Amino acid sequence: LPEYAFIGRSNVGKSSLINMLTNHSKLAMTSSTPGKTLLINHFLINNSWYLVDLPGYGYAQRGKKVMENIKNLIQHYVLERIQMTCLFVLVDSRLEPQKIDLQFIEWLGENSVPFALVFTKSDKQSAGKTKQNVERFLDTLKEQWEELPPYFITSSEKKTGRQELLDYIESVNRTLQ
Ligand code: GDP
Repeated sequence: LPEYAFIGRSNVGKSSLINMLTNHSKLAMTSSTPGKTLLINHFLINNSWYLVDLPGYGYAQRGKKVMENIKNLIQHYVLERIQMTCLFVLVDSRLEPQKIDLQFIEWLGENSVPFALVFTKSDKQSAGKTKQNVERFLDTLKEQWEELPPYFITSSEKKTGRQELLDYIESVNRTLQ
């Protein structure tokens, strides 16, 4: 079955997004303490695809050794999993483009990993501000990429962007059949 993996900086809202997508409130553990997910969790959705929860990256307070282990885990998963159809990279829509996200995306490009962007927490500021941050992020990517990836704007709080994401996954699944 195809796998769609979710990744992002710790505290970006990944667990909340996974819970929104799957309609569970406690499937992926949400936490105000960043960096809780250390394992790779697989969730079977509609008997047709796997949602893969990858550990958050870029939480320096965890210590060098742990960060190195997480990095290896992520790299191993992303590069070895041939059944991974798309990697959703979560980006906090409140922030201007963050170096760590841009570097991770650059690494995906160098390794030809297919990805899409999910801008999270859009309810936290005005729609105008979200749009501005999203555009800045995409403009930054345009400096290095000929083509922009698919992208989605979500709020797990307001439950927005859910259907768009699920529709996208289903449409990609259909092309694989
Ligand atoms: P993770 O570390 O990436 O899994 O992040 P979590 O899903 O645990 O979320 C981190 C914090 O951000 C928690 O306090 C969540 O309640 C909050 N959060 C996550 N998504 C949203 C959202 O869409 N809107 C708002 N307002 N808060 C969110």
